[in-house]
Amino acid sequence: MSDYKIETKCLHTGWRPGNGEPRQLPIIQSTTFKFDTSEEMAALFDLAEPGYFYTRLANPTSDAVAAKIAALEGGVGGVMTSSGQAASLFSVLNIASAGDNIISLSSIYGGTYNLFAVTLPKMGIEVRFVDPDASDEELDAVVDERTKAVFGETIANPALRIFDIERFADFAHRHGVPLIVDNTFATPINCRPLEWGADIIVHSTTKYMDGHGATVGGCVVDGGKFDWTKYPDRYPGLTTPDESYHGLVFCEAFGAAAYNVKMVATLMRDIGATPAQMNAFLVNLGLETLHLRMERHVSNANNIARRLAEDERISWITYPDLPGNQDHVLQQKYLPKGSCGVISFGVKGGRAAAMRFMAALRLAMIATHVADARTCVLHPASSTHRQLSDEQLIEAGVRPDLIRLSVGIENWEDIWRDLDQALAAAQG
Ligand code: PLP
Repeated sequence: MSDYKIETKCLHTGWRPGNGEPRQLPIIQSTTFKFDTSEEMAALFDLAEPGYFYTRLANPTSDAVAAKIAALEGGVGGVMTSSGQAASLFSVLNIASAGDNIISLSSIYGGTYNLFAVTLPKMGIEVRFVDPDASDEELDAVVDERTKAVFGETIANPALRIFDIERFADFAHRHGVPLIVDNTFATPINCRPLEWGADIIVHSTTKYMDGHGATVGGCVVDGGKFDWTKYPDRYPGLTTPDESYHGLVFCEAFGAAAYNVKMVATLMRDIGATPAQMNAFLVNLGLETLHLRMERHVSNANNIARRLAEDERISWITYPDLPGNQDHVLQQKYLPKGSCGVISFGVKGGRAAAMRFMAALRLAMIATHVADARTCVLHPASSTHRQLSDEQLIEAGVRPDLIRLSVGIENWEDIWRDLDQALAAAQG
């Protein structure tokens, strides 16, 4: 199975039916699992035997989907979570605790930014934000002996900055910490950060992986290459006895799988951000066409971005695949098949013109969602950021005329005709 190309893995990895078994991934809709003897169950509780006993920790349906996502990324294993937010939180909590810090790029999804800037500090974990263009000296200056990880997004939402993964992996490894990459917008079809030196991948499966706007979910994938035992003082949770498992040492007992096993055995056990198994099933259906959809998202978005870039009614455009984009060289390096379907641009005439543009759209749907098979669009100044004045918006890095367009997989000329007539209406 590991020899197959990624398109084949999208369809066949994770669940392979045996003789007479269901062709489709079974939804194991059961909270619990039955055993003949207490001893057999005890072996599972002690992590002495693999298996399932309670779905808050793990279930075969979501595990099959996690195995598929891990295979697509080239990792050793994965853990599905109830949301992308839970995946980001768990990726950090698994190796950091009160008094520690992590380093994150400042250009990341607003929800993750809030988690890092507000909620993690309440738990005693400081997040030190750095600019994607920070110099080596500036980066080195924010690390100390309590730093546990470096975090960034392959394609930042919504800034659409491309992460220089190789450079930040070198930086992280120079300081003996892993690089965690949120690969939601690129998906493993367009970029596999583990191949560029990243150590852990997180996903919001809510986006392209589901692809149909049906489920909220997340996944954490471990590349299995970061050697936690090299830094035993920095990662005691993985390298010293765990009292809640009779003194078991995760790295000794599970080797390359230690990070994932610890996440399930401790964070899932104690916090329970478990996915619904029906949702895992739906994500699996989405994954079966991920390779086809990403190809179409990219080709549609490229066609639309080129049209917009030449249009007189547009004041600016950000799309990494366009030659003039500030991160075009990084896009060519890390995402040679294309970035994703998300484009941001400004409508000439400011906030009022952008609102007229939004009101005139007929095909593209207004939604606080991206990375969906259907084209959707958001004007932050009149929705998510509507409480801010134009001056405050600019301070927050969101221009009043900014339109975030998530190009779907419809016929691209139909999408363009809709945008074209809405741009005409925006002129007033
Ligand atoms: N990461 C990125 C890049 C996102 O865009 C989002 C949501 O938009 C998340 C994480 C959070 O995912 P979820 O909404 O599934 O919790």
